[in-house]
Amino acid sequence: MHTLIKLPYAPDALEPVISAQTLSFHHGKHLQTYVDNYNKLTADGEYARMTLEEVVKAASAGPLFNNTGQILNHEMYFSQFRAASEASHTPSGALATQIDEQWGSLDAFKTEFEAKGTSLFGSGWVWLSATPDGQLTITQEANASNPIAKGLTPLLTFDVWEHAYYLDYQNRRAAHLTALWQIVDWQVIEERYPCKR
Ligand code: MN
Repeated sequence: MHTLIKLPYAPDALEPVISAQTLSFHHGKHLQTYVDNYNKLTADGEYARMTLEEVVKAASAGPLFNNTGQILNHEMYFSQFRAASEASHTPSGALATQIDEQWGSLDAFKTEFEAKGTSLFGSGWVWLSATPDGQLTITQEANASNPIAKGLTPLLTFDVWEHAYYLDYQNRRAAHLTALWQIVDWQVIEERYPCKR
């Protein structure tokens, strides 16, 4: 039995980047539906005893993979944000060093990440992940997929399903993705990075 995560901020804390109305539908309706479906699909049997990550790695394409993947994706997505006035706006430590090594600057990384989110066709997610040897990689994941299915460690994600932005930005996905950096808390992203060198 999985329960809907509580958000670590007030419903209007992410405004104007994400409105309280969008957050209310996205967390309270969309994510709640994935949780309800997951609970029905796992009510009996082996999947009920597995973690979300284990289910995503083990399940084949279909309703169980989709609903479990969407819970995992949204829990990481919602957890990485803070009010713009409280968020850590830049990474530090090993993660900052690695971004500089691979992209040259944080701005260059952000530009590529936004471009991959903007060019993802249809519904899905753009992710920053770590490879097993601590390198960083940006991937586009269709629909409910998550980089852990490819053996990567997911660190940061932007949801490019229209339900994530349409009430606030309509068709302007790129403008939404650019605005999201204001509320990304890099301290949360760093805690997910396994390579503490
Ligand atoms: Mn979503």
